[in-house]
Amino acid sequence: MKKVADPASRLVRLEDVLGCPDCHGPLSDSLECPGCGVSGSRNGAQLKFAGFSDTELRQDPLNHVKESVKQRFGSLYPLAISLLSPVYMSGSVRSFLRGFDLDRELVADLGCGTQRYDPRMLCVDGGSYANVDLIADLSRLPLRDGVLSGITSIAVLEHVPDPDAHIAEMWRVLAPGGRLFCYMPFIVPFHASPDDYQRYTKVGLERRFQRFEVLDVRVGCGPTSGLLWVLQEWLALALSFGSERLYRAFVPLMWLLSPLKILDVVMARHPAASVIASGFVIEARKPAVRESRLLA
Ligand SMILES: [Zn+2]
Repeated sequence: MKKVADPASRLVRLEDVLGCPDCHGPLSDSLECPGCGVSGSRNGAQLKFAGFSDTELRQDPLNHVKESVKQRFGSLYPLAISLLSPVYMSGSVRSFLRGFDLDRELVADLGCGTQRYDPRMLCVDGGSYANVDLIADLSRLPLRDGVLSGITSIAVLEHVPDPDAHIAEMWRVLAPGGRLFCYMPFIVPFHASPDDYQRYTKVGLERRFQRFEVLDVRVGCGPTSGLLWVLQEWLALALSFGSERLYRAFVPLMWLLSPLKILDVVMARHPAASVIASGFVIEARKPAVRESRLLA
C-alpha cells in the first residue's frame, strides 16, 4: 500500500478535514468560512489559522533560547532533549500509534513542537516550525467535528491557558470510538513554551478527561526525573548567589546530572511512584454514538 507520507498528500488529507474554528462548518477553497468570515492562509504545504507571534514565543528568556534552537535545529531538538533533559520517558507514544492504521486513519499530534512521530501524522501547533502542517490555536481548532481517529498531546496541557477548552476541542474533533494519548507533567519546574500555567496530579488529570472513557492512567515519567529537574534548578539557584546571569549559565551545567534519570527504568514502576512522579500518561476513548447515549 502506498504510504501517505509526503507533504503534498498530507496536505490533501488535511484540506479534507478542515473546518471553521468558530462554527465548525466547511471552508471555501480560499480557506474562508462563508458565514463567519474567518480565514486561513497557505504557505507551501503549511496552513495557518492563528498561532503565536515570534515575539510571544520569545518573551521568556529561557524560552527565547529554546525557540532559537528549535528553529535552527528543528527535528534534532527532540533528540537533544531526550539526551540532555533530566526526564526519562519510555517509548509509549509509539506503542499507542501502533494501534492505528496510519495510512487510513488520521491521527493528529496537537502541540507537536518540532517533533514528528510519523510522516503520516498531522502535526498541529501554535508555533510555525518547519514540521508543522497546521498552525492553529489549540482551543479553537480549524477542523470539522469527528474527523480524527486519534490524538496525541505530549507535555502540552500545562502550556494551554484554558486546558478544559482544549480538551473540549479534543472531544469535538475525535470520531466516536477515537482514542487519545496525553502526557502531562506533575513534578516539573516552571518552563515557558511560550508560557506555563498548571500541573495535575494523577487524579486531577483523570478528572479533566471524565467525559471520555478512561482506558488507563499511569506514571509516564518517574520520580527520579521529578527529583532531578527540581534538583538541577535548586543547585543553579543556590550556587548563583542571587545573580540571574549566573543562574542561567549554571542550568546547562547541571545537565551533567541528567544521566541519573535511567534509574526511572526501575523506579517508575514502584507502586507509590505517583507521589513525586515527573508526569502522567492518560489514554482515553470517546465512546461510540450508541454508547454515549447509554451513558448520558
Ligand atoms: Zn464559521
